[in-house]
Amino acid sequence: MEDLYKENDDEFKKMNNNEDDQEEEQENSSEEQEEEMNKINIYNNNEFQLDKVLNFFFNNNIISKTKFCSKCGKPMILESNITYMDGKVWRCRSKVGKHDVKINIRENSVFENINIPLPIIYFLILYCFTEKYSIDKSYIEIKDNQNLFWDKNCTKNSISKLYSLLRERIKNSMHKIWKNNLMGNNPSEHGYPVFEIDESEIIGNNEIIYWMFGIIDRISKDSRVFCVLNDRTSNNLMKIIKDNISTNENVDMDLDEEYLENARIYSDCFASYQPNTFRDSGYILKRVNHSVWFGYGNFHTNNVEGLWSQIKRLSNNFSGLNIGKLEELYPSENEKKNYLDSWIYYALFFREVEKKKLSRKGRIKLLINYIKI
Ligand SMILES: [Zn+2]
Repeated sequence: MEDLYKENDDEFKKMNNNEDDQEEEQENSSEEQEEEMNKINIYNNNEFQLDKVLNFFFNNNIISKTKFCSKCGKPMILESNITYMDGKVWRCRSKVGKHDVKINIRENSVFENINIPLPIIYFLILYCFTEKYSIDKSYIEIKDNQNLFWDKNCTKNSISKLYSLLRERIKNSMHKIWKNNLMGNNPSEHGYPVFEIDESEIIGNNEIIYWMFGIIDRISKDSRVFCVLNDRTSNNLMKIIKDNISTNENVDMDLDEEYLENARIYSDCFASYQPNTFRDSGYILKRVNHSVWFGYGNFHTNNVEGLWSQIKRLSNNFSGLNIGKLEELYPSENEKKNYLDSWIYYALFFREVEKKKLSRKGRIKLLINYIKI
């Protein structure tokens, strides 16, 4: 994974040869000035021409750059065709086989069902989504710069759909990466990895509260967060722990002081965190009793608590969502979970950006790695 985040200008230039480096040199200017400067750099060139935009998506594997005919298996040809929104279509015409096959260039891409012209999608992804703009702010940006897109337009609804698909992609990619890489590669001063676990409220009212459960590696600060809705049972949380943390080697010891010195998981005293249950599953748990003392030395859960405030800040408190709206838009548990999860992962994306101090380029590169095919 590490390689993905390294700044590599050459590679980025290949990715987007219109990129102007000047914006990188303004670290001391105020945010507003920087934004203004970005605009000048961005908008005075012709990077929104369809061919350039298409090349960007092709070269970064966001849209597949080759297609094979379903009838004869031969590579298809990219043709201009104004009846398609993008003005292009994959085509195979065979006199011998008597077929004429056309395939939309967006097929199987993240944009397949998005009703927005590609140059505007490009603009939204590079200059709005990765800047954490709201739907409304993104929409205004499009309106303000309509001359760049030959007066083509899009609706707020389409922007919302695009953003939720992008968040979904980020989520799926992170899950895939996590599956192949169990946490626990960062030994603490004890020589073994140490984790903090905790749950935090996402939204709620008097009747119901939805929660997220998180694990953070104390040394690397790598973290994983999962929406658990209202299921904070020991069973449910242990399932997540088992999927993500490798077990202790010597858990046969008695639950005495010496044993706790080897603790690998720290939690608060919430009822689902029982040392016995954890030991049965192969983990040594140390609980920090917040009502008696707020932890001393190594006995604390400060890291995971810091994670919660980051996630809430970076997701703009889950985009200012309230529970009534959530229930209305996403009645089923699965839909709700997916939706809340997607905001968690969007926030984790920006946490990674902050942690690695990524520039705008780095942030775009990171996003591409998450959304490419
Ligand atoms: Zn064919």
